[in-house]
Amino acid sequence: SFSFDFDRRRGTCPQGQTSSTWNPCRQHTTDVIVATWTKSTCGPCPVRDLCTKGQQRHITLRDRALHEATITARAEQTTDEWKRRYAARSGIEGTIRQTTHVTGIRTARYRGLPKTSLEHNIAAAAINMIRLDAYWTGKPLDRTRATHLTRLDLTHAA
Ligand code: SF4
Repeated sequence: SFSFDFDRRRGTCPQGQTSSTWNPCRQHTTDVIVATWTKSTCGPCPVRDLCTKGQQRHITLRDRALHEATITARAEQTTDEWKRRYAARSGIEGTIRQTTHVTGIRTARYRGLPKTSLEHNIAAAAINMIRLDAYWTGKPLDRTRATHLTRLDLTHAA
């Protein structure tokens, strides 16, 4: 919920406070901009605990072109058209996860392209058979993922 004005070189937080500094710098070989709000602004802020663990808020931004591309992409992700296209991807992501998990195909067992290619083809055939078997026998294709907390089964006894 922060907004950034690259022309005026300042950010505005959800409480309507503007950043005090706007420092272009380099972090880990990447050009970034660090916007900072002062301690005197953040100190008395009623929502500071929701915003920062420190005494003041710092936000690191990428350069303008990357920042604006990210904003545009995030806005696009809320559209029905984007969700419709992503639905196809989420299906294939499940297949890829199952393939890497079952066959260990992320790491090649052999050296050389012919052997690696053969290994991939055998893995693909194996996954096809597993999925056909699941289809014919009505088995779920894969376990439904559960969070670590859910796996602890901390349900209260009534
Ligand atoms: S803690 Fe600081 S940056 Fe965060 S909302 Fe409050 S005034 Fe704004």
